[in-house]
Amino acid sequence: MKIRIMEALDIDLEKEMWCCNRCGTELTGAGDNYKKGCLVRERLPSEVHEPLVEDSSFSFAPDPDWCRLIEFYCPRCGVMIENQYLPPGHPITHDIELDIEALQQRYGADSQTGSLSRK
Ligand SMILES: [Zn+2]
Repeated sequence: MKIRIMEALDIDLEKEMWCCNRCGTELTGAGDNYKKGCLVRERLPSEVHEPLVEDSSFSFAPDPDWCRLIEFYCPRCGVMIENQYLPPGHPITHDIELDIEALQQRYGADSQTGSLSRK
């Protein structure tokens, strides 16, 4: 059974895996940071925030010495799962940690198949 956690991110409660919502690819173990299973791309803010006036360097792009845009993609289908701004060199953040057991109990009770069990 898969539950959608974010727009392009599911959790598979039986396999205890993070999965891509679009292509079903298993990213990494549900107890781990889903970002570890993603393709990661670091971009300069100026690539995204284009200049507001033609022939001008003025834009609202944050200073690249202080801020980078980090994008996380499904390694198979390429859908963007998450993105965030971080200072250069900052470790990848761990932003979602679920109580897998509680979810399994909750959804296992609903399905009444008894197929959900801890390894
Ligand atoms: Zn995918």
